[in-house]
Amino acid sequence: MRALITGGAGFIGSHLADALLARGDQVILLDNLSTGRLENIEHLRQRDDVEFVLGSILNADLVDDVMARSDICFHLAAAVGVELIVDKPLESLATNIRGSEIVFEKAHKHGTRVLVTSTSEIYGKNTSDRLGEEDDRILGSPLKSRWSYSEAKAIEEILAYTYWRQKGLQTYIVRLFNTVGPRQTGHYGMVIPRFVSQAIKGEAITVYGDGQQTRCFCFVGDAVDGIIKIADHPESSGRAYNLGGTEEVSMDELAQRVIAVSGSESKIRYVPYDEAYEEGFEDMQRRVPDTTRARDLVGFEPTVGLDEIIEMVVQDQRR
Ligand code: UDP
Repeated sequence: MRALITGGAGFIGSHLADALLARGDQVILLDNLSTGRLENIEHLRQRDDVEFVLGSILNADLVDDVMARSDICFHLAAAVGVELIVDKPLESLATNIRGSEIVFEKAHKHGTRVLVTSTSEIYGKNTSDRLGEEDDRILGSPLKSRWSYSEAKAIEEILAYTYWRQKGLQTYIVRLFNTVGPRQTGHYGMVIPRFVSQAIKGEAITVYGDGQQTRCFCFVGDAVDGIIKIADHPESSGRAYNLGGTEEVSMDELAQRVIAVSGSESKIRYVPYDEAYEEGFEDMQRRVPDTTRARDLVGFEPTVGLDEIIEMVVQDQRR
C-alpha cells in the first residue's frame, strides 16, 4: 500500500511513517517544514520506499499529484499547539480549513481514502468524567483565539463526515488527546517537552494557572498503532474515535514527576494564564477520554505509562 502522510515530517507524522514502513508500506511525506523538522525523518531520507515532498497542503496542484499516487492519505498537516494558534490565528485558519478542503477535494477526485487526525480540543470546556465521541462541545467566544482551533478542526471533521455520507468517500476521524513522546518539541507550547527541557537545564518549571488542570497523556506509539488499526478496519469509516491515555494527572503533579524522573533540582514557578498566553485566555480544566469505541473496534489499549514516557522524552532531549 502507498500512504500519503501530510505533515509527514512532524512529530506524529514521522512516527506514523516509521510504523507504516515497518510493515512494508511505501510512504510519501508531504510537509512544508513550518513546524515539521527534517531531523525527524533524516533516518528515512535515503530509503527507496520513502518519498519526501517539500510543500504545503495549500498548493492544490501539488496535493493533486501526491494524492493521485496514493491509496490512503493520513491527513496530519495542521497548525497545532495552543501557542501557535494564539500567535498566528489567520495562518492557522488557512492551513486548517482551506488546506483540509483541498485535501478532501483531491482525495475525492482520485478515490483516495482519508484519515484525519482531529483533536480533543473539539470538546472545548466539557469537563465530563469521560468524554465520549457523541458528547456535546462546550466552547467559548469565537473571538477568543483558542477556540478558533476547535472550530477549524470541527469543520475538518464535518468535511470528512460529509464526504463519506454524501460522496461515499472512505474517511475516518480520530481525536487525539495530548499525544506525547520523543521528537515532540516544546516550541509551540506542548507541556511535556517544555517541562523536560526546563528540568534538564535546571530552569524553573512554568506551571500555568494554579496547576490543578488535568490531562491524560498518550504515548505516540500507542496513538499511531490505533490510527493504523482504524484505517485498516473495514467498518471504521464515517465515524470519530477518541485515542488517548487513561492516567489523569494535574500539571502540578506532572511538574513534580518530571523533576523526579529527570533527577532535576528545578523549582516550580506558577505563571498566570494572561501572562502565558493572552488576556482572557481560557484553559480546559479537565480532559479525560472515553476510548471504549476504539477499544471495542480495534482493541486500542495504551501500553506506555507516564513515567516511562517522561523518561523517553528526557533521553530524547539529552541526545
Ligand atoms: N502548560 C503549563 N506550562 C507550560 C505549557 C503548558 O502549565 O509551559 C499547561 C497548559 O496550560 C495546559 C496543559 O499544560 O493546561 C497542557 O498544555 P498543552 O499545550 O500541552 O496541551 P493542551 O491540552 O492545552 O492542548
